[in-house]
Amino acid sequence: MTDPSNPQAALEQLHEQLGDCVETSFEQREDHSYDGLKISCLPDAVIRVKEDSQVGMALKIANEYSIPVTTRGAGSSLTGGATPIQGGWVLDLSGLNNLTVDQKNQVARCGPGVVIADLQAEAAKDGLFYPPDPSSKKFCTIGGNIACNAGGLRCVKYGVTRDYVLALEGYLANGEKVRWGRATRKFATGYNLRDLWVGSEGTLGVVTQATLRLIDLPMFTRTFLGVFESDEVALSSPNELRKLGLRPSILEYLDQWTIDCLQKYVGTEVFPGVDPKPMLLIELDGSEREVEEHSIDLTKWMKSRALAFRSASTADEAEKIWDVRRQGSSSMKKLASTKLNEDVVVPLDKQVELVQCVDGLREKFGIKIGVFGHCGDGNLHVNLMYDEENAEETTRAVAALKELMSRVIELGGAISGEHGVGLAKTPFVREQFNQAEWSAMLAVKQALDPNNILNPGKIFDVFNPWEQKKIPVILSWEHENEEPKP
Ligand SMILES: Cc1cc2nc3c(=O)[nH]c(=O)nc-3n(C[C@H](O)[C@H](O)[C@H](O)COP(=O)(O)OP(=O)(O)OC[C@H]3O[C@@H](n4cnc5c(N)ncnc54)[C@H](O)[C@@H]3O)c2cc1C
Repeated sequence: MTDPSNPQAALEQLHEQLGDCVETSFEQREDHSYDGLKISCLPDAVIRVKEDSQVGMALKIANEYSIPVTTRGAGSSLTGGATPIQGGWVLDLSGLNNLTVDQKNQVARCGPGVVIADLQAEAAKDGLFYPPDPSSKKFCTIGGNIACNAGGLRCVKYGVTRDYVLALEGYLANGEKVRWGRATRKFATGYNLRDLWVGSEGTLGVVTQATLRLIDLPMFTRTFLGVFESDEVALSSPNELRKLGLRPSILEYLDQWTIDCLQKYVGTEVFPGVDPKPMLLIELDGSEREVEEHSIDLTKWMKSRALAFRSASTADEAEKIWDVRRQGSSSMKKLASTKLNEDVVVPLDKQVELVQCVDGLREKFGIKIGVFGHCGDGNLHVNLMYDEENAEETTRAVAALKELMSRVIELGGAISGEHGVGLAKTPFVREQFNQAEWSAMLAVKQALDPNNILNPGKIFDVFNPWEQKKIPVILSWEHENEEPKP
């Protein structure tokens, strides 16, 4: 009989079975103690997995001894999803990076540690394409992308990670191996636990192999940048372009505040002579003929709706346009020690109201807030800049954030469109669901991870990132008496 209160005995077993995959040096533990949210919590051990089966072995021991296990890809999560907030073991899967592209079946089979840019480059050699492209694609892994149902710029035309996952292999919390879905285009056999795992942030199972759908690689692109009189005009673009039969592969919005900020940062005007106003970055892709024809229609639309615009016919020109989008983010980072990137999502026709809400919050709380992002999906990133050392400013920023989240939910949206809940969004996630929905999610968690070893402290816990302290309520029914939300 194992003693669940004896983590040392568990670690000894882990060493015995996994040998030099288990690291306990301070450097390794520290390296794996935080992610993109930059809240650090030391694990007791790091397991650098070399073979699929080691995941099962580690989980079996962890489950017997109730050791928390945090699965990790590249650690680029912006929500603390990969932070081992309750200590225990970190399962580092970045070494499981086998990758094969099966051209005949138009699929890729890959280990969870495969980096998205490498997957895209390998597929492109066969004229194939894996479209989801988070801005972190040069370092984030497919395992992390599946766990967060990652999005990115091209989702407006091609969809999110979930739309490309055909089959998953991996391990349940007790170390048993499972396969969800198959390498087929269709699957209607039994419960769809594959899709339950996608977006479950490492709390329901560990992915060790994924089969992904690939599509034909679009060979040509053209990029446009336009400046618009108002948010109403800029944010009517998803609907207006659709009516014209245009399906951009990228449709990005930058608000007036962001343009003002980046122009001050780079010291030049993006469109000389035009005051800071909302902008759209639009990319068309497809065959040469498609891109040519659609460019004519988009040019006409720009002429009728934009104050000024330009398009890129060479890669260099396109890079200059992309610089505007990149500088939007980098200029904000110069403003304060903390930049919170909130990836909220609202229905397409509520985006103007979201931007108006942000304008109001800026004024009411005196906090610097810039909005940019994927307006083709209603997934606008709201960035709040404040100085964490300044307690009074932090309080104002947190109050603004709370109001933002409530408004997003009121507008029929969600507090996260692509980053997940992790730790950072736990103070707001309860408001998103009514009691029945919340209980159903907890029941799923209890069924698949009864000892709560998989990424404990995430999604359900209430964690206060501002005080860096946790109030563990996981698997309790603390919120039972709250008013259900519609
Ligand atoms: C500069 C920058 C830009 C970004 N841009 C975008 C963007 O455009 N779109 C977007 O969606 N995100 C973006 N992100 C966020 C981040 O890159 C994504 O959330 C990404 O999916 C995380 O991948 P990762 O490999 O780093 O996973 P990690 O950060 O290591 O882990 C993330 C979550 O996945 C779980 N997990 C990891 N691997 C597995 C596995 N094999 N099985 C089960 N669970 C697992 C972890 O436990 C954790 O909960 C950005 C981040 C940065 C730093």
